[in-house]
Amino acid sequence: MMMRLAARLPEIVKRPLREMARVGVSIAYTGTRLYCPVCGRTARAFRVYRNMRRCPHCGSLGRHRMVWLLFERRTDLFDGRAKRVLHVAPEPCLADRLRSRIGEGYVSTDLMDARAMEEMDITDIQYPDGTFDVIYCSHVLEHVPDDRKAMREFRRVLKDDGWAVLLVPITAGETFEDASVVTPEDRLRVFGQEDHVRRYGPDYVDRLAECGWAVEATRPEELAEGDDMERMLLQGTMFMCRKKE
Ligand SMILES: [Zn+2]
Repeated sequence: MMMRLAARLPEIVKRPLREMARVGVSIAYTGTRLYCPVCGRTARAFRVYRNMRRCPHCGSLGRHRMVWLLFERRTDLFDGRAKRVLHVAPEPCLADRLRSRIGEGYVSTDLMDARAMEEMDITDIQYPDGTFDVIYCSHVLEHVPDDRKAMREFRRVLKDDGWAVLLVPITAGETFEDASVVTPEDRLRVFGQEDHVRRYGPDYVDRLAECGWAVEATRPEELAEGDDMERMLLQGTMFMCRKKE
C-alpha cells in the first residue's frame, strides 16, 4: 500500500523524501573506518548492494571510487584547464561532481535516461571529428550490439592528444556473444544480465586495439597507496585508451 502510494507521488514530493532518506542513511553509517574519494566522506561501513559495496553518502560503488582515483592520480582531468568532456550514461554519483569540476565543457549523454543532458546513440555520435579532450563511458558497451562501431565513434570524436576511459565488466575467460540470444530471460542466463548482449573477457583490449586504441589497463592494487584498498573498497580494472599512432 505504502509502495503504491509512493509511486503515485509527484517528483516534487518524492525528491525531498529521497533526500530525507539519504540523510537518514548517512547518519546511520557515521564513522571513520572507510573513506569514499568521490564524495570525500568517511563511513563506518558501506551498504551491501548485490555483492558490491555502496557509499552510504553518495551511492558510489567500488568501480566509481576507482575511476575517481584514476582521474585524480593518473590524468589531467582536474587540472583546471578548459576541456570538452563527454560522459556517457552518467552515473548519478559522478555526474554532478564532474559537471561542477569541468564546467561548461562537460556534456552527458544517454540513449534513454532523461537525466542525461543529451540523448545520443554512441554508434552514431552527433559531434564532429576531434571534438573532445576526454571521454568516459562505463558499463555501456556490453549493452551495445555493434560495440566496435561505438569504439570507432569514440575514437573519431576524440582529439588526437585526448584520452578515453572505456570500462566494461570482465566476466568471462574470453569474450563471447550470440546474436540469437534475444529474450531477457535468455540474456540473463547466458550473459548475466537481462539487457546485456555479450560477456567480455580480457581480450576486450584486443577489440579496442582493432578499433585504433592503445590501451593501458590498471588494476585497483596498482592504483592504491597505503591502506586505500581496505579504506575505499576499490573494484574494477580501468582501461585507459589513447589513439594509436
Ligand atoms: Zn561517497
